[in-house]
Amino acid sequence: MTTNDSVQVSVLGLGAMGSALAAALVRAEHATTVWNRSAGKADDLVAQGARAAATAGDAVRAGRLVITCLLDDASVREVLDPLADELAGRTLINLTTTSPEQSRALAAWAADAGVAYLDGGVMAVPEMIGGPGSSILYSGSAAVFDEYEPVLDVWGTSTYFGSDAGLASLYDLALLAGMYVMFAGFLHGVAMVAPAGVTAGEFAAMAAPWQTAMTGAFQGFAAVVDGGDYTVEGQQSLEFSDVALGGIIAASAEQGVSTDALAMVQRLMRRQIDAGHGKEGFARIIESIKQPG
Ligand code: NDP
Repeated sequence: MTTNDSVQVSVLGLGAMGSALAAALVRAEHATTVWNRSAGKADDLVAQGARAAATAGDAVRAGRLVITCLLDDASVREVLDPLADELAGRTLINLTTTSPEQSRALAAWAADAGVAYLDGGVMAVPEMIGGPGSSILYSGSAAVFDEYEPVLDVWGTSTYFGSDAGLASLYDLALLAGMYVMFAGFLHGVAMVAPAGVTAGEFAAMAAPWQTAMTGAFQGFAAVVDGGDYTVEGQQSLEFSDVALGGIIAASAEQGVSTDALAMVQRLMRRQIDAGHGKEGFARIIESIKQPG
């Protein structure tokens, strides 16, 4: 298949993300059928060239490739369970955010129903779909990924992680875990400087390049974790980091803001220090994370 080949594709779910995915398919001139539980959400897409289906069953029957982008696993099951017979012999790609176990269970359901299945995790917000920086993670059927990769690429960079249908979701949620902690850290900084009259916008202008530069440390931490030796020379020790973080916590308290976001990191460090690993590197806190206290 070339990128110019039109594929009959149906998108079930026209929320913010499903609509963006469908619009990109229409722009790429794929024959796109769309369905949404509530009326009215297909209108813009129809104006752009999509075809609206009256029911989810009609949408499935219209598509060789069926994309689901609904709220959660329960809504996917609610919509697809009654359509197993119609889906048999077709290909299903679920881009709804689900847990790894939910993805594996849906893959097993699809296998029983004779449906080729690929699971996806969207690493983008709707406005990014089809533009730079948009990335979608996939796992499940390699045959599906290989056959439809040119279609998937209209949404962003497509990355395949292997036949375990839960892996894309696992990567997705692990990456989001890092994002939420980073956002909390940024907003903690915003709250710290606010009493000094610094706006969030002014702080963001400083924080964005700083945080970006700090991601350069990831590979160094990764090398220590993968090597399994937290005593490697040249790292900042947990004892050093504990003093540094203690200073930030004290300054936060002086500014009258919560120290909760930082206390979480301090707890992870202290468990390793208390276990006698204070001279070892910061990467050692992964041992606190791997063994819940
Ligand atoms: P929205 O809340 O905008 O849309 C949810 C969609 O699910 C709507 O089409 C809604 O239909 C449908 N839906 C909910 N429950 C049911 C049900 N029981 N039966 C049928 N349809 C149902 O969410 P998004 O489009 O933003 O997100 C969709 C998926 O994409 C989610 O899993 C989300 O985690 C994921 N995602 C979203 C991102 C984002 O930035 N928005 C980023 C990455 C992933 P109705 O209109 O009738 O309510």
